[in-house]
Amino acid sequence: MAFEGNVVDRQYENQEKGSAVVSFSTTLARHGLELKRGVTTTLQINVGLRCNQACRHCHVEAGPDRTEMMSRVRCNLTVLAEENRKELIEVCQAHRVGIVASFPSLDAAQAEAQRGRGVFSKSLATLKRLNEFGYGRPGSELELNLVSNPAGAFLPVSQAEAQKRFQRDLDERWGIRFHHLYTFSNVPLGRFRRWLVESGNYGKYMQKLASGFNPCAVGGLMCRSLVSVDWNGNLFDCDFNLAAGIYMGGRKRHVSEMAGPPEPGELVATSDHCYACTAGSGFS
Ligand code: SF4
Repeated sequence: MAFEGNVVDRQYENQEKGSAVVSFSTTLARHGLELKRGVTTTLQINVGLRCNQACRHCHVEAGPDRTEMMSRVRCNLTVLAEENRKELIEVCQAHRVGIVASFPSLDAAQAEAQRGRGVFSKSLATLKRLNEFGYGRPGSELELNLVSNPAGAFLPVSQAEAQKRFQRDLDERWGIRFHHLYTFSNVPLGRFRRWLVESGNYGKYMQKLASGFNPCAVGGLMCRSLVSVDWNGNLFDCDFNLAAGIYMGGRKRHVSEMAGPPEPGELVATSDHCYACTAGSGFS
């Protein structure tokens, strides 16, 4: 495997004391791996923390009361249903923008427990509208993909099985089509971490993530090919490290200091929340 080497020691390791798991860097080392950048191809922009929803699992704790913002652009399924945002679908269609939208569950109560009251029916209405604009139709180049994440302190089911079930049920019950479903573990940060701690589930959840460590998932991790920039221009290896306040490669850098993408081979800063990306089939 291309990730030979020793431990990636960052000062952030073990910052989540009490997680009752071996540190992520130690697990990588035990498998003879280290987490280094490949070719960086993606710039992810976190435009800010203001959101019309305040989902229970949100790792950046976004919500209607947050003021951190880069610009006035933001999008999710329910915001596309708002009266003064309806033109966004037309804009996306005209520019051939692919859409990846959170749709956690086929069960209304579960979805709303996670993302707020009324979210389920608004999401269905928006998906139908996206289909009307050509999104998600078989053979359509207008990509519509969904993301589902568990509603509690457990790992997601197999992605392939979940995709079949979501495609069958959404089509049969509501006539809705989409292309692919991604299933992800919730990352133990922000609002979700607080809920885990308060409900006494934190240690058990971390153990589940750590025991699901899949060394084959390391090669496809998004931090190997992505840079995340926050609303102030600071750079991070991914949006989860942004939420945890861990700068790219462990060193504070501003986007204005960068002549180009980071070099292949740079170490990625890791911490124990990285276990959420390497559990099961992984988070790429
Ligand atoms: S949280 Fe995931 S994407 Fe971010 S640095 Fe860790 S493994 Fe990479």
